Amino acid sequence: MNTKPINSLNSVKHKAAALPTRTIALSLAAALKKLAQTSATARLDGEILLAHVLRKNRAYLRAWPERTLGREERARFHDLIAQRAHGTPIAYLTGRREFWSREFMVTPDVLIPRPETELLIELALSFIPRNKSFTVLDLGTGSGAIAVTLAAERPLARVTATDISEPALQMAQRNAALHRLQNIHFVTSDWFSQLPVRDQFDLIISNPPYIAAGDPHLRQGDVRFEPGIALHSGPSGLDALALIADRARDHLRPGCHLLLEHGFNQAADVKTFLATAGYNRIVHYPDLQGHLRATAATA
Ligand code: GLN
Repeated sequence: MNTKPINSLNSVKHKAAALPTRTIALSLAAALKKLAQTSATARLDGEILLAHVLRKNRAYLRAWPERTLGREERARFHDLIAQRAHGTPIAYLTGRREFWSREFMVTPDVLIPRPETELLIELALSFIPRNKSFTVLDLGTGSGAIAVTLAAERPLARVTATDISEPALQMAQRNAALHRLQNIHFVTSDWFSQLPVRDQFDLIISNPPYIAAGDPHLRQGDVRFEPGIALHSGPSGLDALALIADRARDHLRPGCHLLLEHGFNQAADVKTFLATAGYNRIVHYPDLQGHLRATAATA
């Protein structure tokens, strides 16, 4: 018969009792040791996770190294460090990630917003006027990082955000509510499938999945924990980009823009898709690493 305690209170106590360290400084040192093998940012990871458990910022940890942790705090920190050692991304452990200076809630149902996607925001904002109504379609919104940022930065814009994933769309809705935005509406849709055929927009924007299905990158680091549906798209990674390039044209007003994020080596393919679909002025833009990461085209 199994005599081990099985209720959760007992197991939390058990974990906490097994932890030898009690102060902030000692807890961080133990975490660093535990993460050093698996994370290139072990010290930072430990600090972020402990600050999260204590509901303080990282400066607090430096100011109060001798503060002792409560039993519950130790248990929670221990558990988060164990998950991080197993590879779980920091953003999923804290449930948050900053994007364009705003906080977004994230869960494993959505891709963690990336700094390179801020390039798409910069370009989109250059197209969206501040003082006029304007319609934007964000395809595959995920956490809502793009849709929410554009709706917040341009209050007169009306943003439609789609996702095929119901849990992702719920996350985007929660992020819109977090930032008190009323100018976004959400549609569960497989790309354009649930949009009325006659719906036309002033800007269509997307960060679709664009990694090749067999790419070894998918088996490394944080992406292992992210939703595959948001990352890979067919054997070459180009399926979603090709579909969007082709179908977006019917949903754009003449002279309006399509804006796509894509892989660092996909600019030429994206250009071919766009040229074939009849767009004008196809322009590629580099990200901060100098990779051609985004392409704009005019309908
Ligand atoms: N840039 C992301 C990565 O390489 C991929 C995002 C995407 O497929 N849209 O992890």
